[in-house]
Amino acid sequence: MAFAAEPAKSPNLVTNHPLEFIDTSFENASPLWYDFAPDGTVRVHLLYDHERSSPNRAAGHIHFQLQAKPGSKLTLEFINLDNVWNGVSGSIARELKTVVISEDGRDWKPVSLDSLPENRVRLRVEMPGPRLYVARAEPYRLSDLDRFLAGIRSNRRVQIASIGKTVQGRELEIVRVGNPRAPFRIFLRARAHPWEPAGNWVVEGLVHRLLKGDADARKFLGRYCAYILPMANKDGVALGRTRFNFQGKDLNRNWNVPSDPMLAPENFALEQWLERMIAAGRAPHLALELHNDGSGRLHISRPPVAELPRYLEKMATLEELLRRHTWFTEGSTQASFRNSGTLGGGWLERYHIDAVVHEFNCNWIAGLKDYPSAKHWKNYGEQLATVFHEYFGLISP
Ligand SMILES: [Zn+2]
Repeated sequence: MAFAAEPAKSPNLVTNHPLEFIDTSFENASPLWYDFAPDGTVRVHLLYDHERSSPNRAAGHIHFQLQAKPGSKLTLEFINLDNVWNGVSGSIARELKTVVISEDGRDWKPVSLDSLPENRVRLRVEMPGPRLYVARAEPYRLSDLDRFLAGIRSNRRVQIASIGKTVQGRELEIVRVGNPRAPFRIFLRARAHPWEPAGNWVVEGLVHRLLKGDADARKFLGRYCAYILPMANKDGVALGRTRFNFQGKDLNRNWNVPSDPMLAPENFALEQWLERMIAAGRAPHLALELHNDGSGRLHISRPPVAELPRYLEKMATLEELLRRHTWFTEGSTQASFRNSGTLGGGWLERYHIDAVVHEFNCNWIAGLKDYPSAKHWKNYGEQLATVFHEYFGLISP
């Protein structure tokens, strides 16, 4: 018998536990396994996804449904948080400070986590009913994107064009909002990293603001046209991965070299689109790559290009406008900061496009003194419409 050598265990420990099941069968749920500590703590082992030809690995996407006795109190511990990033080991335990919970998967509220020794993080919840969703941040699923696109598709100011497919064959779309003959063009990409939903909420806020049909919206679209790739890593979002695509590529790396059409078709499609735009004399004047992390700063890249001083001046202008018109207070990375091959650095280096990575703090919004939420991120997107308008008013084409 397999367990004969082990000490006798109470067969009732698990069967009497209030937790009946952790459901990860649905869209965007995080792959995981779980077991029970002797004190009844549910240990949640998040699964890593891995980068090809690299020691890098990532876990940290959290999205599952607890099924347990109503009124019962559960203690969960997250324990596979030892990520490897840019070749360096680093736990995300200290970055994992909050999650959100919801009974219906629509209305979410934040819950603080407790930091424990050995890179463990604890969540205590009381079951309000038989089911409770837990997520790292308010989820934005493929079905949310489909709903969003369905709502704007017939608008005469919107064009949605497919530019290619993901590794698993999902359609990648560029959403154009406004008049392509406007003097300036902004590009935004969200969701290169699947665990980071903020960018999608920001995009929704921006697009809805631009399509409001009021005097300000007409003013914005008279000055600039927006091009948006709303969900770069659709496969990862659908299947609840954390960082890489399904061939183990990080879609916010390797932009300093041409994309591999087999391993990173998501980036290859975007690169082809960008090169067509450049060839047509319609390169974006500014590109924003939207992410979540524990800091929420602008990541200013400094590749060795002749226009670097001019670029840094423009990024300072952008930062000032963000501070003036949005709740942004987090600031920019230091001059010593290097993160080569991001879309921000790569597009500047290879295409001379003013591009920058914009992180959103996943734990706290300092400028609002509040937890992040879909509502706050959408609001940020609305305010970005003004930021872009003023930015393009201050720079020369
Ligand atoms: Zn990211």
